[in-house]
Amino acid sequence: MWRQIEKIAADVKPKFRVLVIANQKGGVGKTTTAINLGTALAAVGERVLIMDLDPQGNASTGLGLSRQERKITTYEVLTDAATIAEAIVATKIPGLSLVPSTRDLSGAEPELMSQPRRNFRLRDAFEAFAATDPGITYVLIDCPPALTLLTINAMVAADAVVVPLVCEFFPLEGLSQLVSTIELVRGGLNPKLAIQGVVLTMFDKRNTLTEQVAADVRAHFGDKVYQTVIPRNVRVSEAPSHGLPALIYDVKCPGSQAYIKLAAELIQRERQLNHMAA
Ligand code: ADP
Ligand code: MG
Repeated sequence: MWRQIEKIAADVKPKFRVLVIANQKGGVGKTTTAINLGTALAAVGERVLIMDLDPQGNASTGLGLSRQERKITTYEVLTDAATIAEAIVATKIPGLSLVPSTRDLSGAEPELMSQPRRNFRLRDAFEAFAATDPGITYVLIDCPPALTLLTINAMVAADAVVVPLVCEFFPLEGLSQLVSTIELVRGGLNPKLAIQGVVLTMFDKRNTLTEQVAADVRAHFGDKVYQTVIPRNVRVSEAPSHGLPALIYDVKCPGSQAYIKLAAELIQRERQLNHMAA
């Protein structure tokens, strides 16, 4: 009897949530959001894994991992040469670990094109990882600025998408392409994929265009847009060159404080999503 209960408990034990940070535009704050949201979640006791899925490796650099230290990377995970458990490394931040990337990752896409289950490589890898009971509660995947096979793999493996957006000219035009990709994935490869939220980044409240674009985005996406906006803040942009999250480099700066608020809002939404699913 007790054995049975233990088995049932193991089966229903919630697996980590996989959130993919995606936008095919470069320079919108994907990597900054992955690093600082990850740090903020870790600070409140979550156990977070950031997966660097961009061949530029900015998340790995921003977390202070030198090129020489990147031995087993997302490239090996995608091409089945290593497991996530083998690729994972600790960072300086307690509760935050990383699967790093290097330029090698740009070779994964052409290699995978002719392979079976090419869209499911990450999902398969995360399922194997979950079976090792790694004690991770959140995975954040930092995507490259493209809607190609790497991002599709991330969306297929994910529970939900977080979309960073800069309030500049015509952000909705670029977003429609992203939203149709999400719809496409939801229509076949991963029906459960949700949009966790849209986060307005590098917000400059002195700029009237910013306010106007933000209003348009909120009119279009409604309450999918987080209340918290991330201000443009020079301390946030300085932090990566020190190999540190802004939250560690300068926790008091407005950008860091905004990421702490964003994490709280995200957790609140996760509770609602789980409540609805239950
Ligand atoms: P992406 O990953 O979408 O290409 P990044 O996160 O690398 O975008 O951000 C692009 C650039 O903008 C980086 O130099 C980063 O340091 C800077 N940046 C990101 N967020 C902020 C912010 N809130 N304030 C100031 N600079 C920022
Ligand atoms: Mg990036």
